[in-house]
Amino acid sequence: MKPDLLKRFLVELPSQMRAAHPTEVEYLIYRTLYYAASDEGEHLSLLFPHISDDEIAELNGYSFEIGSYDKKPFYNVKSSGSSYSHPKGKACARRMKKDEPIYRCEQCGYDDTCVLCVHCFNRYDHVDHNVSVSVSNGGSGICDCGDPEAFKPLNCRCQSQSNPSIDLSELESSLSETIKICLDYILDVTNFAIQTLPSVHDMMNDSRVNLSPEIVSEFSSLPSELYGGVQDSNFKDEWFLVLWNDERHNSTEAKNAIKSGIGGSESKLEDLTHEIDSKGRCIIQESKSVSRLIKTKDKVERGGLIATIVSSRDYARDNIVEHLISWLVDIVQFTSNSSFSELSKSILAELLLEPGHQLSKPLPRSLFNRVAHGLDELCFVSGLVLDNEFPNMGLCEVKRPFEAGDLENRANFVLQPKSDLNFISKSRLQYFLLFEIRLTKSTRRKLSSIFLQPIVSDLDNKAIFANQFMEIFPSLFSMLAITDREEDLSSLHEVSVQILTCPTCVSQIYHNNQIGNILGPLSYIIEKYSSEWNDEAGFPNYIEPARFDSSSLAMKKAIMFGVDTAKKVTDKSFAGSSISGMLEKENFFLLLMFLRNFQGYWPLIRKYGTHVELESYDFRVHLEFSLKILEITKSVATYDLALDDEVNAVSLIMDHFELLPKQIDSKGRITFRVSKDPVSFINSINSLLSYILQAKGVTNFSTILSKIPFIYVSDFSLRSIVLGFQIKIGFWIRNGVSASRQSSLYFDPVFADHTYVRDFHLCQVGAIYDNPQETLLNFLHRWELLKWYENSESHDKTIYEDRFNSISEKFIIFLYNLITDRSCFLKTSAEERLFQQARLRISYSLCEEPRSYSDLRRHVGDEINSLEKFDDLLSELAEYQEPTGLTDTGLYRLRASKYEDLDSISLFLDSSKYQEVSETLIKNIAKNKGIPEDGVILTPKISTSGDEFVDKNIGQLVKSKEFAKLIYKYLQVAIDTSDETYLPQLLHLIHAVLKDDELLFGEKYLSEHFVNISITDLLLTIVESTMSKYVVSKADYLVDQLISKDSRIIENLIDSFGEEHIKSYKRKKTVETEVEKKKRLAEERKAKIMKKFAKKRDKFLQQNLESSAIHDSLNEKEEHSSSATLRTCVLCGETEATNGPFGILASVSEAATFWKVPEDRNRVKIGFTRWNEKKNDLSMEKVYGEGFNYSSFQSEFNNKMFRGNVFTTCGHGMHYACYSRPSQELSHFACPLCHNLHNKFIPSFISPSTGGGIDIAELSKAPINNKYNQILASSSSSKSRNIIEGLVHEDYIHSPDTDFTKFARVLVDNLTNIASDRRYLVGINNNEKYFNNLQNISVMIADTIRMNEIATRYEGEEAYSNFLKLIPNPSKILLRSLIQCRAVMYECRSSPLLLNSKYDLSFEVESFWNSGNLLDGVFNEVLSLYFQTDESLLTLGRLGMTKLLTVTLYSLISRHLGDPGFQFSLLEVRSSLEDSTKNSFISLMKLVSDPMGDWEIDYESLAEKFYFATEMLMLPFLRQLVILEDLITSEHISENTFQSLDKFENLDSEILLQERIEDITALTKVLGLPTLPELIDGLISQRFDFESKILEIVLAAKIPKYFDVGILALEYPGVVSLIDMVKDYNACVIDSNNSSPKAGYDKIVCLICGSRVKRSKGSQHLSECAVHTGVFFIPRLNLLRIITHIDHSPINVEISGPYLTVHGEVKKISKPGSASLNKYRYAAFNKLWLNQGLRSFVTRNIFSSRSEGNVMNVFVEEDDRMDEDMEGMDESSDEFDEETLPEDINNFLW
Ligand SMILES: [Zn+2]
Ligand SMILES: [Zn+2]
Ligand SMILES: [Zn+2]
Ligand SMILES: [Zn+2]
Ligand SMILES: [Zn+2]
Ligand SMILES: [Zn+2]
Repeated sequence: MKPDLLKRFLVELPSQMRAAHPTEVEYLIYRTLYYAASDEGEHLSLLFPHISDDEIAELNGYSFEIGSYDKKPFYNVKSSGSSYSHPKGKACARRMKKDEPIYRCEQCGYDDTCVLCVHCFNRYDHVDHNVSVSVSNGGSGICDCGDPEAFKPLNCRCQSQSNPSIDLSELESSLSETIKICLDYILDVTNFAIQTLPSVHDMMNDSRVNLSPEIVSEFSSLPSELYGGVQDSNFKDEWFLVLWNDERHNSTEAKNAIKSGIGGSESKLEDLTHEIDSKGRCIIQESKSVSRLIKTKDKVERGGLIATIVSSRDYARDNIVEHLISWLVDIVQFTSNSSFSELSKSILAELLLEPGHQLSKPLPRSLFNRVAHGLDELCFVSGLVLDNEFPNMGLCEVKRPFEAGDLENRANFVLQPKSDLNFISKSRLQYFLLFEIRLTKSTRRKLSSIFLQPIVSDLDNKAIFANQFMEIFPSLFSMLAITDREEDLSSLHEVSVQILTCPTCVSQIYHNNQIGNILGPLSYIIEKYSSEWNDEAGFPNYIEPARFDSSSLAMKKAIMFGVDTAKKVTDKSFAGSSISGMLEKENFFLLLMFLRNFQGYWPLIRKYGTHVELESYDFRVHLEFSLKILEITKSVATYDLALDDEVNAVSLIMDHFELLPKQIDSKGRITFRVSKDPVSFINSINSLLSYILQAKGVTNFSTILSKIPFIYVSDFSLRSIVLGFQIKIGFWIRNGVSASRQSSLYFDPVFADHTYVRDFHLCQVGAIYDNPQETLLNFLHRWELLKWYENSESHDKTIYEDRFNSISEKFIIFLYNLITDRSCFLKTSAEERLFQQARLRISYSLCEEPRSYSDLRRHVGDEINSLEKFDDLLSELAEYQEPTGLTDTGLYRLRASKYEDLDSISLFLDSSKYQEVSETLIKNIAKNKGIPEDGVILTPKISTSGDEFVDKNIGQLVKSKEFAKLIYKYLQVAIDTSDETYLPQLLHLIHAVLKDDELLFGEKYLSEHFVNISITDLLLTIVESTMSKYVVSKADYLVDQLISKDSRIIENLIDSFGEEHIKSYKRKKTVETEVEKKKRLAEERKAKIMKKFAKKRDKFLQQNLESSAIHDSLNEKEEHSSSATLRTCVLCGETEATNGPFGILASVSEAATFWKVPEDRNRVKIGFTRWNEKKNDLSMEKVYGEGFNYSSFQSEFNNKMFRGNVFTTCGHGMHYACYSRPSQELSHFACPLCHNLHNKFIPSFISPSTGGGIDIAELSKAPINNKYNQILASSSSSKSRNIIEGLVHEDYIHSPDTDFTKFARVLVDNLTNIASDRRYLVGINNNEKYFNNLQNISVMIADTIRMNEIATRYEGEEAYSNFLKLIPNPSKILLRSLIQCRAVMYECRSSPLLLNSKYDLSFEVESFWNSGNLLDGVFNEVLSLYFQTDESLLTLGRLGMTKLLTVTLYSLISRHLGDPGFQFSLLEVRSSLEDSTKNSFISLMKLVSDPMGDWEIDYESLAEKFYFATEMLMLPFLRQLVILEDLITSEHISENTFQSLDKFENLDSEILLQERIEDITALTKVLGLPTLPELIDGLISQRFDFESKILEIVLAAKIPKYFDVGILALEYPGVVSLIDMVKDYNACVIDSNNSSPKAGYDKIVCLICGSRVKRSKGSQHLSECAVHTGVFFIPRLNLLRIITHIDHSPINVEISGPYLTVHGEVKKISKPGSASLNKYRYAAFNKLWLNQGLRSFVTRNIFSSRSEGNVMNVFVEEDDRMDEDMEGMDESSDEFDEETLPEDINNFLW
């Protein structure tokens, strides 16, 4: 190729671009570059196979002109068939596009930052792994496939189908040349784009500097010798004023700025602002002269925005730069030819990393020679490169020599630039990074694509990149903090993620000695811009500027970035063994320089007087900074290092503390008052020291530690502890929320190990090394109790006033822990120590309460919960309890035997829970040992360290005389005030002291001080006091102990109390024990006898089950005539009465469970599966079972009815009078008791005094009419009265004050206007309307019964026999009430509010049955006729059974004729028919098929199949009939229960006794109906006259008449349920159907029909599925979504899904581990769906956020919350956030 021509083209392009449209420019540039890159078109067809020869011919020479172009540009015609792939052995590094899935795998990835893109993810690599998927927000994040540091070797999917690689070697040199020209041009041009840099911008506004737009612009012509010999001339008469975007101003401010400059219409201002926001800049004024523009510039810049004046050439060049970068992105992401994109990437990587780049025309220093001073500093923070020299001003190393004292100097005195950074790589990439901030917003967004993807896909390049990046890190970081106006766009974030999570790169940073490049500048920036000099301490402390403006926010963000960077390089998982470099002398010094900013920072000062006015939430600083800082200290200190380095490190720290200024009082104590002076919770250097001492064992440092009083160090820690406890007891109440939150963080499990435990450890170190007496006195001093101790203040006159007891309690606990808990000193391996600690932590966490797995993990902290053996340890210590409901979780409980190992005071326990914990311990220990609770004395648990020196010295302070005196004083106060606040803990402390002495000196030892100071006297006083039993018994125990240890004790007691007294005390003790013993023995004997007796009784009851049942029911019968059956109003608390309406709340909703036998064979098969058998075999390939989509059925076997309105209720009752007041005008009413939302009030009448039930004789009367049509046409004259007499209390009718109009009103309001899509008659006149109402209620009663029956089938095996008991009692009450209402509505129809006449509706009845209207199923018909006619239920049952048999057979045979294979989908035959039945059945089939015409049917072979299928199809009808008869015959025996007739009570066992459980014989018998064989035989032999007539008319008239409206539809005989789901959750996540690029990636699964739907299209799908309430599963997030309606507003509710971890917790993306389907949870959900309970569940949760409120998300339709799910898994504080952030469940809107 001819490089000069391309260069020329670029230089001359601006003159062509005036007034050109941007897309034309883009076209021209792309076309030219592809032309050049393909060796002047020579190889263009390799890249674009579709390009025509003409098109190539057009591209001749570089003389392209700008112009419009009508064809689609050739480079946009990508060849099809080939798809994305990347070469083997190289990382993919593809950037995820918005909405694409991002895959992570726990087993294959090294941590959760390792991700795969959709092209690389191969699901067969991850069978049985734990994969999670999140959705890309289009931000950073590139695929790590092929990176050996990210993933195990995988079979990348795109490689398995990769395209043939094309040989592009001929292209290489021209491509390389073109890319080089592009890169160099971009850098050369951007080199001059300096006007927006704040420092340069200021210079240009400063007249003394003499740097005008003209000068800058003139200078920036490209040198012709390097650019093809062409003159780059400026356009001197065309200048633009350009306004720039930044993140410190919003669009209104930008708009106002433009307005003040140039005015203009609102819409024009809007346009300009929009352009600034999207592109990053826009021209707001043009002029021939610069001076005119300067005036406007001054105006628009007043608000702080930046404007520049550039020539039109310069402006055009910036646009060219953008297009060049876009083109480079295009070739990097050249998806249609991966060989080409690979080649481009490797060329780019090489050119970018090539060292020693020279700009064609560097900016000369001379241009800025008028800048008075600090030019280098300005260059450094702006990325300004003068004379090709990179400014080296970063303070990266420590000036030598240095010493501890230097830690009290300012950073710029102590640190200096590194001389070797004068000679850095100077690669193109480094220029790019420094120049980045000069680019426009839209260009910046693209920039990282041209270097990240090419470079990081190769580990060697990545390492070179890391080195170059670190060389200029000081400058880049300073620019981010000070100069960058669009800091969020900075590619620094992305780059550091790539480099600092790569172990090779991180260890290289240590190896190249580049730690200082990070820590030095970071310390300096914090100190200079965001700190306050702490004069007392002698070093700076981080602060946040009071005014929270945008520039200080940017500074804060930059500092957070710096801290994150420091944290990453000290993260053991990346740094590995390199981290030991941190302890090297200079690095360690730098670390301390950094940490001092956080040593004692964020102090609190106690407020006096009024309460704080404005609550401050500044405690967040601890989440933003403290935690990370402390994690750094831990990470550095706990690596297994060489001791030498650590000794040096510790002595540096000790020297530092020695040199700190301190005020010492006359007694040699440090003067400090926590309640007056500033105290902080964060002592980062103390934490660092503590970690080092713990890791290596404190005795290794004894010489250094005893060099100075250790109190100089530990006092800082002590102050924080005292502060924490002072806040805890409410002493800092006036400091408000901030103080209390900070203190809870200090003790919070997540923080405590870094804060409280560290501080505590150092106090213990102090107790070991310092003088014991002095230590104790200093403790008292710091706790501000010394004056009381020294008797200069009385206990009620200390600063604590009435909180003296509370603070003393905390102080005693502190002392107790100090001597007993030596876990920080354990002389075992670090591993073993951690393990022991884990054991304790887990036990103590669980001893407070049982916890869920996550809660427990959070509670024990990260270090412990990440132990490999955590789960093993847990199962050793705790018992697991599985969840069983829809919202609960699995729980872990401490095993009873483990309580004995615990202490009631522990560092791990919340000190305020002492009382509860002690009681729990006592209870469990007593239970476990089988002794009475009184006999349990809790003993202190002293954990010895195994280090003799430590064990000997740590308790010294409690062996002093001063301590004995302290005990004495405390006991005295407690006795004087009779206050027990701290007494139990104090006694426990005394106990511990005795135990420690025992451990050191043996059983018999007693300290002299206990003899000399009469502590025993006081203890005895307590024993004889009226204090609580635990206190008394503990004191008693201690007195015993003391007496037994030293004989002088008893003498002292006698001296004090007199001999008589002591004798009687001793006697009382023994006597009392004997009495107690007797009592106990007596009680034990009694218990034994009772137990025996109970066993006997059980046995007796079992043997006499029936008789006892009779006995029980007799008992109850006696009662129920009184008020036992009366219900109580949940609103007023009064019982119901017959003088006014009482009722229950109910809802009408649409059930969609009335399925029919489907049309396709596969689904027919599922319908004919026995209920206790598995329907689907699911696996990784088939994740979901078959669904049901009835609305897709088309044939005559479909009656288009599978939904129906049904009633549901919570069963809670109330007076209508009470209900009507609050419910007025509301369409929905929430039950005050259970919060379920209802829309109906169903009157419910008291049952007759006998308990009610319709007489069985009444139900089995012979037919009145003999013919089907006569029955249909008859109206009732006596039925309603019979029903009322059987089910309604006689007082309603007999009592004189009963006025049925009261009831009529309620009935009209609630039952006569139910919206229904079924109109039975046109409904013009009143009679028709009333008929419609009655018919409607009948059908709804029938549907409600059916819905309940269908729901029971879900129980499988049990459902066959026990279905009556499976129907919930509220449903029974509801149905019975509805039946009462239906009867009353007819019987009382003459009421003016109802029909207003006695007319029997016979005309309407007849016209309805003659119309073409078909009811859904035979049961509905039977039930309707039951209310309508005077026929008995038995008659109607016979009618129904015959009709059903006829229709069923007809339907089966028709289906067989349509599809001979149909029979194979029917129920599998397992038993044979008796010959006689078989023959009759064959005759019947022939009879039924006769009207169908002449067909060859092999009846013989079909007979058994069809017989058993028919039987199964009749099952639902008979069950429904049984439910109905049971409802109207059972007796109301108490408020909510009914007693069935014996035959129904026994039905269960009758069914079980049958050979086949699905046999319908028992059902027909209980109903008094003929059995199926009897019926068939009766029909064939014509013995059953009534039935034969029915058969005849159904065949001859009914089937033809209703053929088209679906009379042949068959009720679904199988289990109706939501689709089955696969057991293993991972299979759902990697399900291939869920991530096809064409249909979108994020799918939800309809649980009814099984189809996959776009996530945002849920409610749209409802109409396809033809349901009103939709239920979906969101596989990726394991959520269930319910879409339902309240009135007409759709609401979406999401609840956690059915997949649970092995710990019984809901699987979430952020929760690791495998998960499987929890059958209880999914069953609970299924049942809610079947019982129409979903709505109640949803509403209940909306109305009572208290109960299960936080289990769900509620939102209104179709808002795009898609991206909000758990992204950002790289944040380790995930779990903590969940806890602290408020649940946002209150965003529910109507
Ligand atoms: Zn990939
Ligand atoms: Zn791949
Ligand atoms: Zn995997
Ligand atoms: Zn009431
Ligand atoms: Zn309720
Ligand atoms: Zn569906």
